[in-house]
Amino acid sequence: MSAYPPQPDRDSAPWWERVARGEFAVQECDSCGTLRFPPRAFCAACRTEVWRWRPVVPEGTVESWIVSHQPFVPGRRDPYLVVMVRLTAIPGCLVYGNWRGERPPEAMERVAGVFTEVGAGVTLMDWAPADAG
Ligand SMILES: [Zn+2]
Repeated sequence: MSAYPPQPDRDSAPWWERVARGEFAVQECDSCGTLRFPPRAFCAACRTEVWRWRPVVPEGTVESWIVSHQPFVPGRRDPYLVVMVRLTAIPGCLVYGNWRGERPPEAMERVAGVFTEVGAGVTLMDWAPADAG
C-alpha cells in the first residue's frame, strides 16, 4: 500500500477530520496540561493516560529544510521542499511538512500552516510564510 496520500486509521481518523476542517489539534494532558504532538498514549511529563484534543494556532519558525529529489509521491517527479518547523504552541516540538511558499524558506522564518486537500478525502497541513496571508 502506498504511503501517499496518508491513510487515516482508527486512532488517527479524528485528527485527520480536524485537519480537513482547517484545524490543527494537539493533545493536552488532563492532569498537568502539557501539550504534545504527535499523539502518544500517555503524557511524558506525568505519565497520565487521560487527554483531550486542543486546537492550537498552526504557527512556528523554520528550523531546517531539505529539497527532496526522491519521487515518493506517485505522479510527482519534480524536486519538492520539506520544512522542519518548531511549533510556537509547543516549543519543544518539531513538525514536518511540505513547503508552499513562492520562494525557499529562510532560517528562523515565521511560518503558518496552510491546509491543502490532496484528494481521497485527505487534507494535509503544509507550511508557508506567515505574512503570506
Ligand atoms: Zn501530564
